[in-house]
Amino acid sequence: MNQRVEFPLTPSQAADHLIVQATALQELGLEAHADVHVRVVRRSIDARSRVPRVRIVADVFVDEQPPDDEHYLSRLQQAHPGKRVIIVGAGPAGYFAALELLEHGITPIVLERGRDVRLRRRDLRAIQQDGVVDPHSNYCYGEGGAGTYSDGKLYTRSHKRGSIEKVLRLLVEHGATPEILVDTHPHIGSNKLWKVVQEIRETILRFGGEVHFETHVNGFIVEKDQNGKLLRGVRCADGSEFIADATILATGHSARDIFARCVRDGITIEPKPFALGVRIEHPQSLIDEIQYHQSPRDPYLPASSYSLVCQADGRGVFSFCMCPGGLIVPAATSPGEIVVNGMSMSRRDSPFANSGTVVAVEQADWEQRGHGGVFGALEFQAHVERTAFASNEDGSQRAPAQRLVDYLDGNVSTSIPKTSYIPGHVSVDMADILPPMIDDRLRSGITQFASQMRGYLTNEAVIVGVESRTSSPVRIPRSKETYEHVQVQRLFPCGEGAGYAGGIVSAALDGQNVAKAIAQQVFTA
Ligand SMILES: Cc1cc2nc3c(=O)[nH]c(=O)nc-3n(C[C@H](O)[C@H](O)[C@H](O)COP(=O)(O)OP(=O)(O)OC[C@H]3O[C@@H](n4cnc5c(N)ncnc54)[C@H](O)[C@@H]3O)c2cc1C
Repeated sequence: MNQRVEFPLTPSQAADHLIVQATALQELGLEAHADVHVRVVRRSIDARSRVPRVRIVADVFVDEQPPDDEHYLSRLQQAHPGKRVIIVGAGPAGYFAALELLEHGITPIVLERGRDVRLRRRDLRAIQQDGVVDPHSNYCYGEGGAGTYSDGKLYTRSHKRGSIEKVLRLLVEHGATPEILVDTHPHIGSNKLWKVVQEIRETILRFGGEVHFETHVNGFIVEKDQNGKLLRGVRCADGSEFIADATILATGHSARDIFARCVRDGITIEPKPFALGVRIEHPQSLIDEIQYHQSPRDPYLPASSYSLVCQADGRGVFSFCMCPGGLIVPAATSPGEIVVNGMSMSRRDSPFANSGTVVAVEQADWEQRGHGGVFGALEFQAHVERTAFASNEDGSQRAPAQRLVDYLDGNVSTSIPKTSYIPGHVSVDMADILPPMIDDRLRSGITQFASQMRGYLTNEAVIVGVESRTSSPVRIPRSKETYEHVQVQRLFPCGEGAGYAGGIVSAALDGQNVAKAIAQQVFTA
């Protein structure tokens, strides 16, 4: 017999498996005995009442064993050297595409411009401490992609795009905590995620795949035949060439040089709406007080988060990639630009809570600022990042900042409180950095958020700019059915950079889907 049961517990009770087990049986009026098994399937925080509770959903098995978990690694096969697929980019889209190809015995050849995940940490230190941005290895580039030194949040709204459970289980099979399988808001943390990425690479190599670091793809080998254009392979900055049966292009939302190369090589791309704004940072204790009605919070509760959304003058304004107990990080990919983003460690124990707070950007907006054509959205984005950099006279990664209250009042802050952003700040009026259509709507959005969340508007809150890499400003169009580029055969645009994902899990799902499509179309045709 198998019965599902749902019940609330205090945070400390929920952390004790014996109490969880006893409560599940009690709820069903069952006695504990040798052949009763309780398996927690979902855990979420319910902070609606004055005292937050943890809601547990559990399956109770009486006189039967719980079913075995699916083991996805056991599906992988040794790669066939005659079946080769190039994957440009070792982010979640690229690495999960590689694992999926190995389920079909196809050799993934991963080409990554950045360094391996361990060496990459040295380059992140150089950005943080010296303001030096390596254009090949930074918070967005390098093994594991943009998500590796991030918050490691693993939730997605892409429920129809594939098996989220498969992505999460593969992460667990590579060393992530099994808690991510049951938490409603699963999270790994930067200090743990990099090791998982390293393990995934080991799996790819063990099954006969290839991973080449510091291999910057800068050209496409395109042939023309009677059916049109066909991609044979790619060229790299060191002069090497790779030829394969298909190429997955999974270069992420910041690969501006690849977008330019597509246009030069006659590969169609399109501008795409995205979102732009700032990061807003509060003391974590304040957010806990607002969300959990307690400070300090119960030690068994995770750092609290929020999700805010409203409309302002016809555009969405929303919180984005909230990092409770996290840090604001410098996420530029080239010298001469300031871009911020957020990350956290697995314990989420920094005293700060930051979140992107962004405004949707549409074609009318970039055109109104004089940016047109396929690069209209990208130029709009790049212009704001350069303006943010120019606010800083010493050419470092010090970011423009303003107290939230001063921003709404139009005053340059006379002091900026301590924030988590290590390179430091320049006190500015953010209205001088943001285009007017963003500035006006952001102001309106923040005012609405302050009325939704009492305590949000406080002198301790700081805005740090600019949050501009929310998603790709370009789409590389592909067929809905085959995932192949609309015009170039054997080219498979994939992941966030191609405009088909937003976040670690959705990029991983897209990688799996593209790899599956290649296995079916290219190798069984
Ligand atoms: C600081 C930060 C925090 C984030 N936090 C989260 C989070 O908590 N949760 C979440 O879901 N998402 C988060 N994101 C977003 C998430 O990282 C991305 O959505 C996701 O990584 C996209 O995956 P991808 O594989 O499509 O592209 P990417 O991860 O961007 O990977 C692309 C890869 O391609 C490589 N590349 C680019 N150009 C070339 C070239 N010419 N030749 C060879 N290689 C190339 C890059 O070096 C990179 O490794 C965060 C992003 C950042 C920057």
